[in-house]
Amino acid sequence: MTQSLKGIAASPGIAIARAFHLASEHYTPTKQAIQDSPQEINRFRQAVAVARDEVEAIRASAEERLGANKAEIFEGHLMILEDPDLIEAIEMKIDDEAINAEFALHDVSQSFIGLLQSMTDELLRGRAIDIEDVSGRIMSHLRGVPHLDLANLPAECIIVARDLTPSDTAQLNLEVVRGFITEVGSRTSHSAIMARSLEIPAIVGIGPSIHGLPEHAVVVMDASQGIVLVNPTEEELAAYRDKKQKDDLRRAELSKLKDQPTLSKDGKQVELAANIGKLEDIQRAIDNGAEGIGLFRTEFLYMGRSSLPTEEEQFTSYKYALEKMNPKPVVIRTLDIGGDKELPYMELPAETNPFLGQRALRLCLDRQDLFRTQLRALLRASRYGNLKIMFPMIAVLEELLEAKKLLEEERQKLIAEGVQLAEHIEIGMMVEVPAAAVAADLFAPEVDFFSIGTNDLIQYTMAADRMNETVSYLYQPWHPSLLRLIRFVIQAAEKEGKWVGMCGEMAGDVTAIPLLLGLGLHEFSMSAGSILQARELIGQLDKTEWAGCANQALTMRSTQEITQFVEHKRKQAFAILW
Ligand code: PEP
Ligand code: MG
Repeated sequence: MTQSLKGIAASPGIAIARAFHLASEHYTPTKQAIQDSPQEINRFRQAVAVARDEVEAIRASAEERLGANKAEIFEGHLMILEDPDLIEAIEMKIDDEAINAEFALHDVSQSFIGLLQSMTDELLRGRAIDIEDVSGRIMSHLRGVPHLDLANLPAECIIVARDLTPSDTAQLNLEVVRGFITEVGSRTSHSAIMARSLEIPAIVGIGPSIHGLPEHAVVVMDASQGIVLVNPTEEELAAYRDKKQKDDLRRAELSKLKDQPTLSKDGKQVELAANIGKLEDIQRAIDNGAEGIGLFRTEFLYMGRSSLPTEEEQFTSYKYALEKMNPKPVVIRTLDIGGDKELPYMELPAETNPFLGQRALRLCLDRQDLFRTQLRALLRASRYGNLKIMFPMIAVLEELLEAKKLLEEERQKLIAEGVQLAEHIEIGMMVEVPAAAVAADLFAPEVDFFSIGTNDLIQYTMAADRMNETVSYLYQPWHPSLLRLIRFVIQAAEKEGKWVGMCGEMAGDVTAIPLLLGLGLHEFSMSAGSILQARELIGQLDKTEWAGCANQALTMRSTQEITQFVEHKRKQAFAILW
């Protein structure tokens, strides 16, 4: 019989494939006494042998697909699997203490990792990550849970996991991964955002029942509705194949708008841009008719690797993005690490409240070496296209001024070195901390543009963690407090003749677009897959009329009142949309 699960619709689309459970990387085994140590050691050796065969196969395939350089990391993994210091220490622990292999593996590898992480040598610190990876692989074989390499999955599948980190998501091989479903997560967690930019269906926050989903079962994801069907009947499968076909037809219809400008019904122009995290996303942005890149989340260039990207590597990536989009604008945001975006190799101290901690620009101002490297790479790339630089997580004016000062210092150094740079680069800031929104008039003279980051602005305004389902009822984009902040930011910018974009998820939400247009937003930056639908919608909206609606909405007292009002207005305006 078909089983159905319900979760949060994180990235739309229909997917049909078999389920693959992804072993949790955060598994901590319990210590158990065993009777037969030699037998336990044997079990451990078998797990190591399977892991070795697996890594060897991955190494060969990576070498073929990506070249010898990229495959080097797996040579390192093979060395660890054959490292007598590590392997013998685990076997001795099983024997001496008569304990289970899982616990011995965890305990010994954690002490190796701890030791390596305390080293100053960056290469040795990088080895800690390799040990973590290899021990996770052995662990999954001991537990009988297949260890999946996200970049090397064997066949078409839907990933089933407790959670996916943003870097897991970045590594997904889209030739075989049809979608993913997770136990935890929210629409604005970064893996959900990435799924939307990769245009793969994702359903998150399903809850613990996800673990009962049988391995390799046929699964249908109706990700626009947040519905998962397990072992569907033939009729259900046929119905969803039909629905998928209709989705594809609708997309083909929308693609006719790809090269059109974005004009409202009364002829007012706005810009629809794409949010990207990886260079591969740029082609998707172009294919979906993006008029620019409104947010390049550069932190993804820093993920899925074991050391910081060099200035040269960054320069190459930024240059590529600028050239590919030229003459369209590319807003590149400086590093926003922290919150749910971690960089294990940086070994940043654990924080009690990472979203309120040393995140993004706060970290960059503290670690100026890191920041200056990025600024130099950006400046050097500037002459290859239409670059705009944006600073994230600004709360106070001093942070903005300091960031601008460092940028200017690097600019002067490059000029002195004879490097050719763009004549003018627009500088902007994200408005995602309420302090910056409320004081937008103080910031406006210092920037060329604002981009409103509603994902964070909502969580900080409402004091409701964007990742926590239990407080998701407070995560209200429509709350009067938010609308007032947005209105104020736009007014403050307009007084100084500056433009305002929005790159939080609200910008791509078809139910929010009419009011945002009415509030006077100039640029809407969203996942590439949402652009054409937004363009079609804006073409049917009368901006002047929605400006009146926005004024009315601003007099209301609650999210409920505002959403009901907007719902009523849009029903009046359209018979069929949404
Ligand atoms: C935001 O906060 O709205 C935003 C776009 O930044 P991020 O989602 O990367 O935190
Ligand atoms: Mg943010």
